[in-house]
Amino acid sequence: MGSIRSRLTAAYAAALITTLVVFALALLMARRVAVYRDLEALAQEEVQRVVNAIDIVRRTGTEPVFAKNDPLAGPKVSERLQLILELLPDYILVQNSALYDLYASRAVAVLSVQDRDVFSDAARKTVGRSTQVVTLLGDQVIIASRDVMLSAEARYRVYAGTSTKPASLAPVELVRAMLIVAPLLIVLSIIFSHVIAGRAFRPIDQIVDQVEAITDGRSLHRRLAIGAAGDELARLSATLNAFIERLETSFGALRRFTADASHELKTPLTVMRVDVERAMSPRSSSTERAVALEEALQQVTRMADLVDSLLTLARADEGRFDLYREPLSLHALVGEVVETAKLLAEEAGLVVAASKIEQAEILGDATRLRQLLLNLVSNAIKYTPRRGHVEIALIRDVDHVVITVRDTGIGIAAADLPYVFERFWRADRVRSRAADRAGFGLGLAIGQWIVQAHGGSLTVESRLGRGSTFTVMLPLPAVDRPDVDAEALVDHDRGPRMLTPD
Ligand code: ADP
Repeated sequence: MGSIRSRLTAAYAAALITTLVVFALALLMARRVAVYRDLEALAQEEVQRVVNAIDIVRRTGTEPVFAKNDPLAGPKVSERLQLILELLPDYILVQNSALYDLYASRAVAVLSVQDRDVFSDAARKTVGRSTQVVTLLGDQVIIASRDVMLSAEARYRVYAGTSTKPASLAPVELVRAMLIVAPLLIVLSIIFSHVIAGRAFRPIDQIVDQVEAITDGRSLHRRLAIGAAGDELARLSATLNAFIERLETSFGALRRFTADASHELKTPLTVMRVDVERAMSPRSSSTERAVALEEALQQVTRMADLVDSLLTLARADEGRFDLYREPLSLHALVGEVVETAKLLAEEAGLVVAASKIEQAEILGDATRLRQLLLNLVSNAIKYTPRRGHVEIALIRDVDHVVITVRDTGIGIAAADLPYVFERFWRADRVRSRAADRAGFGLGLAIGQWIVQAHGGSLTVESRLGRGSTFTVMLPLPAVDRPDVDAEALVDHDRGPRMLTPD
């Protein structure tokens, strides 16, 4: 839990740092572009200022603007214009049409001859309102220019350059601000996300604690509290509750099964012990010994039957029990069972009737289906008093067959019906166990497994004192069904193939 919390916090911090870095870079770029644009505008403004100064001097002065001729240095701007231009701090150069310098600001004047050439070359390229960037004394300078026409003959060119130092200062300030604010922001958000993640995981911690307490083996009857929010955690609790309920059911079934199996084995073992003791006793006559041994043999047979049934169910549970399915005449099988039932019924003083046996071929395991039908029939005989009736029928439908075993016996109470197919369940344990042909309550559980393994179903309808009807439904193979095109199922190389229902 702790690790998910710290992983979430770390992921959040990483995402935040990445976002901050990307944001800062984007901000820097945008800022740089904006400052450059401002500086370009500033250079143009500077040019405009020079042009304005020339214009003012020309309109208000008495002497010519560019007439002053220095005998040593050639033509120059008038003194008045020079005074005004010296107020402008940047790189300013005014040339006449012969590219002779009429005025150079202090910033230009201090340049080396080389730099001045660089400045002049770049400045000349700016004619036509575009700007140029040159590096002068390690500083980038944006240059703008303009032509001034005082008369047809008097043409002058004005250049103004502005340093880009402010543009490079802005990012430095921004980075400095970020370096101060970002760590603070990151630390605060890490603490915040750690606390939030902790809060989010607290209910999960509680669920884990509750599940631990419940699954200690003795508290499976308890359930998790489901939050009212109806969120993911409420769903998790509900799912876990369903899971715990299933666990409780299967643990209960397992406990009952073990207890029942031990109990069923205990009785014959006790009887056998007494029998063997009696057989070994020197006071027993040979007849008494023979009787005791015969009874012990009966108990051994009974225990072997029980172990056999348990093994069948255990294998079925594991899915290791294979059915040997083959084409089978169900009517013939039911006929055999009816004959056996008649013999058993004669002893019990009952009437067995086969009301309707229709022809049906299925794919099935003959041994397992015989075991199922014999169990149903012997139950019907076992739980029907003398002079009662047992009726067996086989009816074929479109895609399935139905076998019914109906009796007029003691029936099963409505409250007991849901448990009839459970392992070791008997309506009246004491009476069943004491009875002549006492069962273990496993026959119907095995029967239901057999039918389900064939893709069918086994159901019961019963009324206490009125009798019971057990109904077996088995699917017909597809080739036998009128709703399926038989020709489509014929494999012409190998003849017709049987389709398994599942
Ligand atoms: P058993 O070997 O005890 O008969 P079964 O699994 O076959 O075990 O049957 C379980 C219980 O269902 C029986 O003990 C009996 O109480 C009830 N039962 C089964 N078949 C009938 C029936 N035809 N009429 C009344 N009760 C029945």
